[in-house]
Amino acid sequence: MLGKLSGWDDTIVALATPSGVGAIGVIRLSGPTAFSIVNELFPSKNLLQQSSHTLHVGFIKDGEIALDEVVVALFKGPKSYTGEDVVEISCHGSPFIQEQVINACVSRGARLAKPGEFTQRAFLHGKLDLVQAEAVADLIASNTEASRKAALHNIRGGFSVVLQGLRERMLTFSALIELELDFSQEDVEFADRTQFFNLINEAERTVQHLLQSFQLGNVIKNGVQVAIIGKPNAGKSTLLNTLLNENRAIVSDIAGTTRDTIEETLNINGILFRLIDTAGIREHTSDVIESIGVEKSLEKMRQADVVVYLFDANEMSADELGTLVKDFKEQSIEFLLVGNKADKSSEESLLSTYASIDPKIFISAKSGWNVDELKDKLVEMVLHGSVQTEGTVVTNARHQHALQQVASSLSDIHRGLDDKIPGDLLALDIRRCLHYLGEITGEISNEDRLDYIFSKFCIGK
Ligand code: GDP
Repeated sequence: MLGKLSGWDDTIVALATPSGVGAIGVIRLSGPTAFSIVNELFPSKNLLQQSSHTLHVGFIKDGEIALDEVVVALFKGPKSYTGEDVVEISCHGSPFIQEQVINACVSRGARLAKPGEFTQRAFLHGKLDLVQAEAVADLIASNTEASRKAALHNIRGGFSVVLQGLRERMLTFSALIELELDFSQEDVEFADRTQFFNLINEAERTVQHLLQSFQLGNVIKNGVQVAIIGKPNAGKSTLLNTLLNENRAIVSDIAGTTRDTIEETLNINGILFRLIDTAGIREHTSDVIESIGVEKSLEKMRQADVVVYLFDANEMSADELGTLVKDFKEQSIEFLLVGNKADKSSEESLLSTYASIDPKIFISAKSGWNVDELKDKLVEMVLHGSVQTEGTVVTNARHQHALQQVASSLSDIHRGLDDKIPGDLLALDIRRCLHYLGEITGEISNEDRLDYIFSKFCIGK
């Protein structure tokens, strides 16, 4: 499938657990000399004579110096994560010890692994396809239940299985159509055009479905940007506190977040909501309705996937809100009007006062009344009715891009079949489509692209 990559035959080594102090740290080696390198450092037993998938307790010694008492796990290829001989050394969690053990491996011929190189090797040995390998990176980075589920689904095969199936069936047709070209004098048709047409239709539907799932995929993977705006005293900071008390998400690094802006995040039903400019809300600088025309609020709203407009339901007139709704719609801003302080009026009178505006919900930020319904409504808005987050979801921009190319080549084939174009032209379109399908799962790839994809992993994976 692929030419040999540079450094392919090396034995690689890296810390597989996060750097820093921990109870234990796992150092992983993979490659042809993994067993012999560790064996040299492990005098109490001959590891070369041990069976695969066994654990061994003993000292790692660099010459006469005992570095640490460790547990060594042996995995003989191809039954290992990478498909090669793999050794995992569980040592004590001091970074100093770990560094010394890694250095001892390096001085005996191992090379430090590049980011993602273990998973890259797993891919190259056919242990994972590219979608699965990328899902490993997504799983490591996932910080909500929904993103974890989507990543796990793809590791288990996910939509690459669907695409591989389509690709294989198209390959058969492609071969038959190319065969026809060899018999071009004789006007034969090996490839049943009706069957092929049905296959193309099915492929188009599948690809459209996957393309549509990307919006949801993006929500799952990157979260949703929400701006809470409203006049002073509407209750923005009260709402923020009520939401954060229950749902504050524990988030480490999110790609694209600048370190100097503090961002509060909420985890609602497994979806990550990222609140824009919460510092502004807390400092009461986030402005008033008149500021809809003011640059700062506008910018916040443009940045947001959803705008929560909070108003005091005892103060603000339906007319004033009506003007606002018009503005939101003109600017294609997705919004929800949230009438706060509902505890001060009856629900009936609120519903009649604000009958003309939509979408809306009434809450009491202070008592928490209806705040759960507000959360449900937000989730509903971002999922656009597709509540199902367990199925096949495209979360990766690279896949999205390739799927768009697949879709465009499928519509070329479709048109070609309608117009009964000659087999040689049809074959070209099919080849283009097969190429893009293969790019997603990695059946067609090149070294640069692979290096780029795997470079986004952390070291040791
Ligand atoms: P902000 O300026 O929009 O951030 O508004 P605050 O959150 O500071 O709230 C302004 C005032 O409204 C405070 O005195 C809150 O206690 C009060 N408030 C907020 N939410 C409610 C509510 O649901 N009901 C009632 N009765 N008062 C509320």
